Amino acid sequence: MNEGTIVKVSGPLVEAVGMDLVRMYDVVYVGKERLVGEVIRLYQDRASIQVYEDTSGIGPGDPVFPSGGPLMVELGPGLLSSIFDGIQRPLTLIAEKTGDFIRRGVSLSPLSREKRWEFSPLVKKGDVVSEGDIIGTVPETELVLHKILVPPGISGQVKEIKEGLFSVDQQIAAIEMKKGEHVLKLFSTWPVRQPRPYRKKLRPETPLVTGQRIVDTLFPIAKGGSAAIPGPFGSGKTVFLHQVAKWADSKVVVYIGCGERGNEMADVLLEFPHLKDPKTGRSLMERTVLIANTSNMPVAAREASIYTGITLAEYYRDMGYDVALIADSTSRWAEALREISGRMEEMPGEEGYPAYLGTRVAAFYERSGRVECLSSDERCGSLSVIGAVSPPGGDLNDPVVQMTLRTVKAFWSLDDQLAYQRHFPAINWLSSYSLYLENLDDFYSREISEEFSQLRNWCIGILSREAELKEIVRLIGTETLTISEKLLLDTARTLREDFLHQFAFDERDAYTTLRKQYLMLRAIYLFHRKAEEAISNGIPLNKILGMSVRDRLNQLRYVEEEDLNYFSVLEREILTSFESLIR
Ligand code: ADP
Repeated sequence: MNEGTIVKVSGPLVEAVGMDLVRMYDVVYVGKERLVGEVIRLYQDRASIQVYEDTSGIGPGDPVFPSGGPLMVELGPGLLSSIFDGIQRPLTLIAEKTGDFIRRGVSLSPLSREKRWEFSPLVKKGDVVSEGDIIGTVPETELVLHKILVPPGISGQVKEIKEGLFSVDQQIAAIEMKKGEHVLKLFSTWPVRQPRPYRKKLRPETPLVTGQRIVDTLFPIAKGGSAAIPGPFGSGKTVFLHQVAKWADSKVVVYIGCGERGNEMADVLLEFPHLKDPKTGRSLMERTVLIANTSNMPVAAREASIYTGITLAEYYRDMGYDVALIADSTSRWAEALREISGRMEEMPGEEGYPAYLGTRVAAFYERSGRVECLSSDERCGSLSVIGAVSPPGGDLNDPVVQMTLRTVKAFWSLDDQLAYQRHFPAINWLSSYSLYLENLDDFYSREISEEFSQLRNWCIGILSREAELKEIVRLIGTETLTISEKLLLDTARTLREDFLHQFAFDERDAYTTLRKQYLMLRAIYLFHRKAEEAISNGIPLNKILGMSVRDRLNQLRYVEEEDLNYFSVLEREILTSFESLIR
């Protein structure tokens, strides 16, 4: 194809003419160093190109070479444990080759061509396969079996299938199609801006269990759902997101670190490889792909990172796995969008963000979902998306937050005030919400207990009543409160301090099963109900709160998961203690 010529350079944005043969979102190579860029606006033969590398030294007159296709990612064994940048350049491999600093124009395949993988076929010669079918597997890591899929759009008869050790670019199978033959390798490619296809979207109806009590009990996210979390500085966002990455019952985690302050991202890069998968004791990286963009990388790569990450996540979903994608922070991504839009001199919308911000945000979160995968085996997979937002000054009226809240169905409102009081996770129970409760109620009543949703409603009721009463106390003091109201304040404190508060660094407290969450709440509820009864029998509040069984509620978090019988013993004790108190 003909090359174009640069006429203008403005930071990461380059304009070139003579580009009549390229299409929107085509990748092009800019300048003699062939920096990677993407066409983001086309008018006649003039193209605006966002460049994924530093453009200094590039100027008018330099050439632009079309690549003939859109921005693609490589999908195959070797993704897990890798650290990529926003356009899937393998940061660890590059660092080995060129040192920590990425030189411009360095091109290395995202997936190693040297490493060989053990491929075991699941089909034989003569079998008929169609798109999405699993033709074989590769043990990618100790934790994840990689399924090699027939790519979308391909179906036919297996003409050849191999077994043994292969690098990703060697042929492992051939499929005879109506028109010609399709050669399969261990890896395939996919354009990042195009969602990967599935058979149909299903209603999300099981929770993504995170083991974090405030999330699972009060504000759950469904498998295939989406949630947003704002993170004012120091509010415990990183700890919380790590907890989710470690504990959520998803098979694969894709973590996009999107241009947070440079050193902060370095923390993620340094810390993440040391995180352990708590259930197996192995490195969490064995089921994680990390996408890293520090703020010193060009903004355009940051803009792309979200799409690169979600495409990798969809790929594992298509294998039939539950995948969690964590993007931290989507605000930095939106800022990249704003910067590029500004340089293109587009008409700005709110706060200078482009008018299409809302559509882009929605399109991103809409790639989450529980789906029936392409394939004839009716397998399902899910992709849950958790996006952190970091509005300037913590202002939730910020357009990125508002657009996000319009799309996601769960909101975990991290609150720096709570963090300041050392209440962790600092998720505010009054301003958070989940719209999945109704979808998930069947699951909770079937798998845990029919009482579960009543207990949750009771808990939320007590906490909101507490907020009202505290306001009254603030205005006119405690004298006006009735005994029942004083009891309620005490129960609310127990709920906050002994149920919602959860210490990430204590082995026994870091994760709580749903069953235990339910039993903890039930014990607190039982005590409260009995205490109300006792009050109506004229027992003074200090007697009730002084009961020794009352103190046991403070220790519920430490009850071992193997010892949940403890709760039935405790419940009996609560009942007998109250009986003797009233007597
Ligand atoms: P952010 O990323 O929001 O700036 P961090 O996640 O680094 O904040 O958390 C700041 C500090 O808060 C941590 O170093 C830790 O001491 C404390 N912290 C946060 N979450 C928890 C938790 N669940 N349990 C105990 N301590 C926590």
